[in-house]
Amino acid sequence: MSRQIYRSTWAEVDLNAIGYNISEMRKRLPDHCEVVGVVKADGYGHGAPAVAEKALEAGAAMLAVALLEEALVLREARITAPILVFGRVAPQDVPVAASQNIILTCFQKEWVHEVNQLNLPYPVDVHMKWDTGMGRVGLRTKEELAELTEELRNSKRINLTGVYTHFATADDAGFEYFKMQNNRFDYLLQFFKSIWHKPVDVHIGNSAASIRFPERMYDHMRFGVSMYGLYPSDAVKAERDIELQPAFSLHSRLAHVKRLAPGESISYGATYTTDEETYIGTIPIGYADGWIRKLQGADVLVDGKRMPIVGRITMDQTMIKLDQAYPVGTQVTLIGKQGDQEIEVDEIAEKLETINYEIPCMISERVPRKYK
Ligand code: PLP
Repeated sequence: MSRQIYRSTWAEVDLNAIGYNISEMRKRLPDHCEVVGVVKADGYGHGAPAVAEKALEAGAAMLAVALLEEALVLREARITAPILVFGRVAPQDVPVAASQNIILTCFQKEWVHEVNQLNLPYPVDVHMKWDTGMGRVGLRTKEELAELTEELRNSKRINLTGVYTHFATADDAGFEYFKMQNNRFDYLLQFFKSIWHKPVDVHIGNSAASIRFPERMYDHMRFGVSMYGLYPSDAVKAERDIELQPAFSLHSRLAHVKRLAPGESISYGATYTTDEETYIGTIPIGYADGWIRKLQGADVLVDGKRMPIVGRITMDQTMIKLDQAYPVGTQVTLIGKQGDQEIEVDEIAEKLETINYEIPCMISERVPRKYK
């Protein structure tokens, strides 16, 4: 049920940018390689159902999420496309996935054994995960692969329809570790093909690997951060192999504007004191919205100009130093463009000493997403 929005802070999601990024990626891929739209974590904070619909419209063949819950949200939104869950789903929850035609990830023979005991009313498709160096989930050795494959061969209700791995350093400036993971994958794939003769989908690449090595991407590529218009790293950004359009922007409106005399302080701890007559604007966004206190000192855009956040960011409100009085209701852009000025997600990530992935994810559910 969509709720009425009263607050004047919102994130804008440009779905056309998502469509554009997918079509740019598809142009680079070999014809047989399909795009999987990665919409875990509520579509990297952009809103999973809307992004998923757009991704499918733009030619994605499949979706991927981290959790069974996230897959079910998409089914509730009447999305019927194939959905792969990356994380481990407990065996007792497999019937739920099977009933909704959701593809699961498997990497433990014990898991297959337990699922086999359930007498599933519906069969379930699985992709097998190989850990070639990410060190997270996935089987590592030929012996584990042989045992799991044998367990799957004896299963009447589990269909093995894919195998995959995930790179730890595909976005790095150097390629050594990436090559090592590739070699391990090739080795496991060759062995797998000698013991399993039915067709399976093979996929290895995230955004970075697929942008850099599109020709190596087998049957699918898993398009995450760059589907949203962000580069996976500075190294990939500098290479400019693909031009992306950012989909996420963040806005608010001035709720209050005041003129302060010199020597007046702002917010908790009185950490900022005016040294001259100063206009201060207040916007209704704070750390409970994911606009965290460490962003004190960051710029926002007002009237196409950069203005700094002054004083501590509070739970619900943030103050900015204005260059003049602006009317209440004036739009303030925290991420995005105004005129010829732009505050990129990357700028906020740099300020917070983190990666761009984290920024739209951390803008909390309290901030409504508007789609254009
Ligand atoms: N594949 C897997 C298994 C992932 O966990 C992720 C995200 O972390 C992706 C693909 C997408 O990666 P990216 O956002 O770098 O494209």
